[in-house]
Amino acid sequence: MNIIQVLERYPTQQACINHLESIRFGDSPYCPHCNSNHVARKNDGNRVGRWNCHECHRSFNVLAGTIFQGTRVPLRKWFAAIAIMLNAKKSVSSPQLARDLDLTQPTAWYMQQRIRRAMLAEQDQLILQGIIEADETYIGGKPRKPNNRDDDTPGGQGVTDKTPVIGAVERGGKVVAQVAGDLKGNSILAFIRNTLDMRRSFLITDESTAYNAIRGLLPSVTINHSKQYVDGEVHTNTIENVWGLLKRAWYGSHHHYSIGWMPLYVAETCWKYNHRDSHNPFAAFMCGCFS
Ligand SMILES: [Zn+2]
Repeated sequence: MNIIQVLERYPTQQACINHLESIRFGDSPYCPHCNSNHVARKNDGNRVGRWNCHECHRSFNVLAGTIFQGTRVPLRKWFAAIAIMLNAKKSVSSPQLARDLDLTQPTAWYMQQRIRRAMLAEQDQLILQGIIEADETYIGGKPRKPNNRDDDTPGGQGVTDKTPVIGAVERGGKVVAQVAGDLKGNSILAFIRNTLDMRRSFLITDESTAYNAIRGLLPSVTINHSKQYVDGEVHTNTIENVWGLLKRAWYGSHHHYSIGWMPLYVAETCWKYNHRDSHNPFAAFMCGCFS
């Protein structure tokens, strides 16, 4: 849904709460503190959406434990912010979002980081399988010259303080990528072990020696980039495509932010890639907030 559709569908704070309650509780509301179903709506007028638990005698609302917890920003603005971010091919800067939704820039930034944390949480649950392309890249520092692959390695031309990112993608499926402390064999091995179902995966990489430690653990094949980039099905074009999306988002919108936040921007790119075929990414995101 685009921002207009979202605002029309959820015209009030109560409509937003009703939607979130239907996702979280369905027909059986429960207390997030003690999981009891012995709960009832609280009738205190201005605190919309509040419930009482008759088991633990605490109160709660549907936002407890979610990215919306404790927010003073109207939920319609949250919904609109999510719609704007999901529809942005690259990304949206916080000053831009602040202008769009009449927020302060720090508030827009805070909301975006929470939205990205939800995206990261979803990615953390993924285990990949099938034909997998794994690769690394460097991001941050000065933008590299377009089409200059030699500039993509540490110590390469014009490289200053780039941050290593490692990723793996299923052919026709999902991607997992994360910021890495380094791109040595042990780091890559740990990433692959955590990300892949090793018994159900076939790995394609370039000839980097960092993958040597993995080769005996699952079927794999390498491609020699100095000779050719595509050898039938043996290529890493899928993950290269993801790196392209990541770099366009980073250099297009966020280059002036600290690289300390980069894991969240990587998560945003991955989330959008993973939901690229979804007919309703907004609904997918909302459901993900409660999973
Ligand atoms: Zn309770």
